[in-house]
Amino acid sequence: MDAAERERYSRQILFPGIGERGQEALLRSHAAIAGCGALGSFHAAALARAGVGTITIVDRDYVEPGNLHRQWLFDESDAAEAMPKAAAAVRHIARINSKVLARGVVADLTPSNIEELLGAANIILDGTDNFETRYLINDFAVSRGIPWIYGAAVGSYGLTMPVIPGKSACLRCVYPDPPAGAQPTCETAGVLNVIVSAVASLQVADALRILSGHAELGRSHITTRITTIDVWNGGIRQIDAPARDPDCPTCGRREFPYLEEAGRPPVTLCGRNAVQIHERAGPVDLAALRARLEPLGEVRANEFALRFFVTPYEMTVFADGRAIVKGTSDTGLARSLYARYVG
Ligand SMILES: [Zn+2]
Repeated sequence: MDAAERERYSRQILFPGIGERGQEALLRSHAAIAGCGALGSFHAAALARAGVGTITIVDRDYVEPGNLHRQWLFDESDAAEAMPKAAAAVRHIARINSKVLARGVVADLTPSNIEELLGAANIILDGTDNFETRYLINDFAVSRGIPWIYGAAVGSYGLTMPVIPGKSACLRCVYPDPPAGAQPTCETAGVLNVIVSAVASLQVADALRILSGHAELGRSHITTRITTIDVWNGGIRQIDAPARDPDCPTCGRREFPYLEEAGRPPVTLCGRNAVQIHERAGPVDLAALRARLEPLGEVRANEFALRFFVTPYEMTVFADGRAIVKGTSDTGLARSLYARYVG
């Protein structure tokens, strides 16, 4: 640590739980944020300010005006430019802390790319909005022995739980299977921005404890509790996470079906009348696509994505070939629109 770093992080170093050794560990650490929406954008800012040296941010979506009330890192210019969240986050982190090495990846986290995207991380923070990806992260983190911090928020309520492979219960010890049926989401049930920051803060606190050298279980170290908070009706509850289940398929029997799963169907996004298409593997030439689509309707493009309006639908095509079709929840229709306009 040089003199400028010692000054910059002085108040954090003074805190006995971190200290100079803890700060040096943070500067050497690599945190990955899976999903950079409400929770993830808060994680990114907090970790960058705390001096976590390398931050990888993976997100498949772009910033929209409807995100701004709760997605702490983004502003109106990000929404106006329809910036991919991962790229916008990197831009903001560079202004917050230019020493942080931030890598933004505009992609859907899948079994085939998770090793490349998250494999080098010392910790993974859950900023996702769906159980499919959380079970994938759990399989990956347990198989690789990487701690991860589960977090979720909707309405005024949220919860968080750290998973330390080999030491604490994993997601499937607690919830053996993803919940059945439609779950309330931020799009269907709404969400308060302060539950997001409360849950994300607890996740970052656990991440800082683990990265600064307190990953052991116990009183002065990490506690594997499930914390639930309701910021509207009041109430913070902590319950001890159950002990590890020796028969847990993931951390007991070491079966990783979510990691081995191949060929996933198109995913309907988070109850907001939109479908994501990710069947096509391989990059798309956005400039050529723009030239092809401009005679057919309004096209807006930046270096990361292209948006095409075909009333009443709106299709955003990313450079990796993925697309988000808004205005329908019919996966068949979304696929046919993709085939018609993208190929
Ligand atoms: Zn388990």
